[in-house]
Amino acid sequence: MRKVYHGLAILLFASVLQAADPVPLGQLPKGKTFLVILAHHDDHTWEWGFGGFIARLADAGWSGYYVRTTNDEKDGHEWGPNDQVNLRESQEAARHLGMKEVISLNWRNDHMSSAPLKEIRAQYILLIRKYRPDVLMSWDPWGHYDRNPDHKRVARAVGEAVWMAGLPNVHPEHLAAGLEPFRVPRIYYAQREDYGKGHTPNIAMEFNQAQLGRKTDAFWSHKNVRGNPANPEARRLSMETPSREAGRRAGVTFAELFYAVGEWDDIPGLKDYLETNARPK
Ligand SMILES: [Zn+2]
Repeated sequence: MRKVYHGLAILLFASVLQAADPVPLGQLPKGKTFLVILAHHDDHTWEWGFGGFIARLADAGWSGYYVRTTNDEKDGHEWGPNDQVNLRESQEAARHLGMKEVISLNWRNDHMSSAPLKEIRAQYILLIRKYRPDVLMSWDPWGHYDRNPDHKRVARAVGEAVWMAGLPNVHPEHLAAGLEPFRVPRIYYAQREDYGKGHTPNIAMEFNQAQLGRKTDAFWSHKNVRGNPANPEARRLSMETPSREAGRRAGVTFAELFYAVGEWDDIPGLKDYLETNARPK
């Protein structure tokens, strides 16, 4: 029994150490357009990712688009108008972060595990070919555990779409409609590390105090699911605490942590050539 306890203690200690591992600070990538593809109206504003980095990209002149995959019919205090209320609040959050538009695909909330993966992926491929993003953000498809069935389905479909959008024989009907194949050059995956093994951040993206303020405003735009905290200190700490902790691991004040992967990271010579000679228009 005692041995088991010791084993458990060592395991817990090891997981705490892993959670506190330093993460290298990333530079702002090159480009001008980014796409954020997630499941629900508020997913781009959670405490573990996206909002701070989104605000920083917008401040640097990038155009950003948010894809809400579901209709959010079950998220909120009302049955019925949740879809439209949540969409409006998602648009308000996107405005706080400096994004251009929210694109809603309206798949049924909590039913995505039975929605055809191929159909969801086809919609993402179409959007990738339309917007031709230099950066795409989503959840880590290889994060082993996320308790939300919609999140898991979206992450898997995104992980496939970022590559398949570059293949001309995949959905050639898009090409007939005037779009061209496009492989996303850089992807930033976020995930809660306490959701289990499988997600290990490899880059920290820093943001400033004003951008933290916008991340906080965006989070609390979702009044239908989060209410409206009367205590301004609780409101401030909700986003500041995790942003400080992520920043501490990279030696800066505020940050978000990602697993970033470039499509050509494994072939550095080709990557350099494409960076200087063949950047997407
Ligand atoms: Zn969600």
